[in-house]
Amino acid sequence: MRPRLTVDLYIEGILARNRSILSQAITLIESRLPTDRALAQRVLEGVLPYTGHSFRIGITGVPGVGKSTFIEAFGQHITSLGKTVAVLTVDPSSQRSGGSILGDKTRMETLSHNPLAYIRPSAAGGSLGGVAYRTREAMLLCEAAGFEVLLIETVGVGQSETLVHEMTDFFLLLMLAGAGDELQGIKKGIMEMADAIAITKADGPNRSVAERAVNEYQNALHLFPVAESGWTTRVVTCSALEKEGIENVWETMQRYESFTRQNGFFTKNRQNQNLDWLKSHIRQALEERFLNHPEIRAQWLAAERSVQAGEELPLSAAERLLNLFFT
Ligand code: GDP
Repeated sequence: MRPRLTVDLYIEGILARNRSILSQAITLIESRLPTDRALAQRVLEGVLPYTGHSFRIGITGVPGVGKSTFIEAFGQHITSLGKTVAVLTVDPSSQRSGGSILGDKTRMETLSHNPLAYIRPSAAGGSLGGVAYRTREAMLLCEAAGFEVLLIETVGVGQSETLVHEMTDFFLLLMLAGAGDELQGIKKGIMEMADAIAITKADGPNRSVAERAVNEYQNALHLFPVAESGWTTRVVTCSALEKEGIENVWETMQRYESFTRQNGFFTKNRQNQNLDWLKSHIRQALEERFLNHPEIRAQWLAAERSVQAGEELPLSAAERLLNLFFT
């Protein structure tokens, strides 16, 4: 492992848009060593005034829907407009196997060589919540390093899309035409979170199926209540392979951004997201400290046993342990 830099060197390097230092800083925030955590917090505090200026986009969809191919084409499009883009991943699979079903950065070969793009392979290990915290912090570092568009990718299974939705301004759901919702494992809740749905692989013989799917999804979306943003979810088709419809997705996002900036939702949403993260950090920190408290550790197994055996009410045991912790 590389030796750590000083707080000032991390901050200066990030603000100077030094990618090597940005990468080292992300490695630092991914570390769970208490000394690294303390250093990471100071780095984050130092760059905080320089964060918040990017457009944060969450992208989800089941494995095989075409996420990496889409991000490659989409990233190339945005950079062709002169914008810088950073790609981060929240991958729940990486915690289980150590390997990742989203693969590594070779997935986006062209984009990874693009001087206006930065791709950070997914952080492995820890709970999904932990991975999400680190992704959120990495996002702040990328913003401080001047990236204008952030793409946070996650695979559409489990809870990760909710976490990504909670850290982004715009949520894009990629779907396949003709595969059926159940087949794609897409829950209604995820469709409800989407600001746009892009039907992927709309090329060759698949094009007409994709166009039909647009109507079907649009009809399904009519049944949902109006989103708090006031925005109506758009359904579009695209082909990352043929580079068709990519521009349209970006234009949709820009329309969303100006719409929600005008009606105040953009700012309000970010403020609410910050509040939610505050609460969630407190919950996590309290639980961690509670479970690591020496007296709690000493009593924990006995409490577990008596609750399991039905000798003590869970509520009574909880109160007893909490009193021990808070006095
Ligand atoms: P991911 O697992 O969601 O990241 O999906 P990938 O981007 O790896 O794509 C899965 C497969 O779909 C690959 O074989 C791609 O070549 C193919 N694919 C992706 N985008 C398109 C597209 O626009 N058109 C067609 N025909 N195939 C595509």
